[in-house]
Amino acid sequence: APVILWFRKDLRLDDNGALTAAAQSGRPVICVYIREPESERTGPLGGAQAWWLHHSLSALLKSVEAIGGQLLLRSGKAADVLRKLAEQTGSDRVLFNRHYERDDLDAEIIAALQEDRIEVKRFKGQLLHDPHSMRTGTGGSYRVYTPFWKALDRDGDPREPLDPPKKISSSLINLETEVLKDWDLLPKNPNWAAEFDRIWTPGEKGAWTKLAAFTKKPIQTYKKDRDFPGLGDATSNLSPHLAFGEISPARVWFATRQLGEFANADIIHFRKELVWREFSYHLLASFPQLPVKNWNDKFDRFPWSKNRDGFTAWTRGMTGYPIVDAGMRQLWRHGYMHNRVRMITASFLIKDLMIDWRQGEAWFRDTLVDADVASNAANWQWVAGSGADAAPFFRVFNPILQGEKFDPDGSYVREFVPELAKLDNKYIHRPFDAPLDVLARAGVKLGTTYPNPVVDHFTARDHALAAYAEVTGRS
Ligand code: FAD
Repeated sequence: APVILWFRKDLRLDDNGALTAAAQSGRPVICVYIREPESERTGPLGGAQAWWLHHSLSALLKSVEAIGGQLLLRSGKAADVLRKLAEQTGSDRVLFNRHYERDDLDAEIIAALQEDRIEVKRFKGQLLHDPHSMRTGTGGSYRVYTPFWKALDRDGDPREPLDPPKKISSSLINLETEVLKDWDLLPKNPNWAAEFDRIWTPGEKGAWTKLAAFTKKPIQTYKKDRDFPGLGDATSNLSPHLAFGEISPARVWFATRQLGEFANADIIHFRKELVWREFSYHLLASFPQLPVKNWNDKFDRFPWSKNRDGFTAWTRGMTGYPIVDAGMRQLWRHGYMHNRVRMITASFLIKDLMIDWRQGEAWFRDTLVDADVASNAANWQWVAGSGADAAPFFRVFNPILQGEKFDPDGSYVREFVPELAKLDNKYIHRPFDAPLDVLARAGVKLGTTYPNPVVDHFTARDHALAAYAEVTGRS
């Protein structure tokens, strides 16, 4: 009897435990990807990720074919689709890789399959370590990153990645499959993803190309350069590939092992970032409501503002603060935003506009190609100060100083806010302070060609801190 291999957010052949086991079983393998209906738990697939999924699946269809298999596309509830497929093919075994963010959904699917006497086998690979198995000395879960990192570091390397199978034997039965194009994952009018093609190559090959480019050079100066958005490819850009499981974190980790016997500070810093991803999943495992509820319930009383105009200005990159606007426009144009600028824009939404972090989280989920349940929620709560091991609320990012420090020549702002491109370095992060003749020379007319600030940062900051003091009883 054939085995069924269910691909999910592990759209790769390399280091794919379930696929390797299926190949080694010697039985015919039926590969399937299921487009599941939106559920409360998984939420809708964001627009940017829908674009990515289309291209990633089209790459996977080809690579499965290249090893002798066929990838079926089906829609419906996973348990129903898998049961039907098992019935059609006489299969009695379903294999898939574990995805911690949907453990509860998976438990129901497994129970349904077992009712039909279908054996289910799950494999690891989404993370370096099982988030449930990481325990503090007293047996609890970690709330603070540094001891988490130290524990992981003490354990040494994670397990070695598996090589991709060279061949799988395919089922000879002719099975119906849906057509990817009919899933309508790509944007139509307007095609807001026009620039994505230039930057991203979804799929396993694209992931390996990014990894090779990054380990060749940028990793050598990662620690110093990673905070400067204007430097372009100073970071790995692997996040969407990791989010879709086109490359495994173990593969990325071992690529850094091969760079030399001893890891230098840059390599270690990069590994630490990979471990922030692990830590986010660890937090999610111990607090599954992380994307929707404040970790620190004191924040439940925070007087968030509706501020619809402020939210619209933020999403469009029209706040009047150049670094914030550049970030939000990069997000729209590339489906991605530099990490430093994610922190600045998130802080601006929460602390300058006093808008609930969950609104920002949802906007990022819809627009980021790397949107990830655990990392997105953990980072938003980190910025809000409501999370575990979060930045204290009173540490408010000043968008002017952040811009001047991390985009000193304004190249990032000039790229994404072209209407300011001709402004002197001195004023590129504070056009509202520029004398009229300087603005005129640069062709900038505040309130016409570029907005006036939607709020005064210093007044807004005091307002946010006062609200914070009230809910926490601290001043
Ligand atoms: P690199 O610097 O090359 O880092 C390597 C990998 O480490 C990344 O690909 C990512 O998987 C992981 N990583 C790095 N920083 C973090 C971090 N702070 N938290 C968790 N993992 C990290 N990252 C996502 O993958 N998905 C999200 O939805 C997401 N939302 C975010 C929201 C906010 C408000 C903030 C401040 C950060 C968010 N991040 C998210 C984290 C981080 O910004 C991105 O992972 C990073 O910018 C991706 O670029 P890179 O692949 O070049 O990273």
